[in-house]
Amino acid sequence: MNEVLAIVVPCYNEEEVLPDSISILKGVLNEMKAAHSINEKSFILLVDDGSRDRTWEIIKENHDKSDDVWGQKLSRNCGHQSALLSGLMTAKDRADISISIDADLQDDVRVISEMVDKYHEGCEIVYGIRGSRKKDSFFKRSTAQGFYKLLSSMGVKTIYNHADFRLMSKKALEELSQYHESNLYLRGLIPLLGLKTGEVVYERGERKAGESKYPLKKMLALAVNGITSFSTEPIKMVLRTGVLVLFVCLAAAIYAFISYLSGNVEKGWTSLILSIWFLGGVQLIAIGVIGEYIGKIYSESKHRPLYHIEELLDK
Ligand code: UDP
Ligand code: MG
Repeated sequence: MNEVLAIVVPCYNEEEVLPDSISILKGVLNEMKAAHSINEKSFILLVDDGSRDRTWEIIKENHDKSDDVWGQKLSRNCGHQSALLSGLMTAKDRADISISIDADLQDDVRVISEMVDKYHEGCEIVYGIRGSRKKDSFFKRSTAQGFYKLLSSMGVKTIYNHADFRLMSKKALEELSQYHESNLYLRGLIPLLGLKTGEVVYERGERKAGESKYPLKKMLALAVNGITSFSTEPIKMVLRTGVLVLFVCLAAAIYAFISYLSGNVEKGWTSLILSIWFLGGVQLIAIGVIGEYIGKIYSESKHRPLYHIEELLDK
């Protein structure tokens, strides 16, 4: 039981919360080192996702003060998922196990040692699962739960109430590194690895300081990515809608024919104009969904790197 643990933390404009978070995480790491459940060389890897505030300075100061705080600076803001992946890929070569956690420590750091215990029991991946969402706003809670239901109805394998707080072994990370997706939705990819998994349950707290770095726009983009990167269900829905519209057309045609026979043709103006609008809308939606996939093919076919590491502060 002497594995090197890396705690990977993506940080975007986190100057308000970072100093406290680093000291809490260092405390957790030191406790586990003292209990000999992890190797002395274990470290915290803070990934600066192109912050515009003092985040990188804070990381540098802490790195200068102690060996077990590492920093990785991305050259621009690449988004939470890419920043996290960049940290995990660095950790893969330097640690035996990694645990990813958000910088605001809304996830309970006390279960970190429980995750490591599960790893020792043979799990390659350990998911942090939120027991309840009492601390989330009603809006966030209901939209998140609706989203999980939507995903599973579309055949996407997801872990209910799990975000990106999880342990992954070196092996799991090596497997993950074989995926070359540019539209990253890590939560959807991990279950595809099919390795032995475990779960720990915790209560998610409130953000300690600063504001959420996930405004509605980013949340929606992540949700759309989650669906379109893993499911072709929306494209099938277009087909089903098309069939349905065809039936509606048939009924309308029968109606029009009967009206024609009874000599009421000019009365059809309202229904005609309505159907033009309706069909126009349906067509636009259909084209939009297809466009979403074509856009994906376009970006995947470029095989662009997801991130560029500008600087790495390690031992
Ligand atoms: N984050 C990031 N890049 C971004 C947006 C967010 O690295 O472009 C990080 C952020 O610093 C935090 C984590 O992603 O560590 C989750 O963000 P946040 O806690 O604001 O999201 P919420 O909990 O509100 O969903
Ligand atoms: Mg948060």
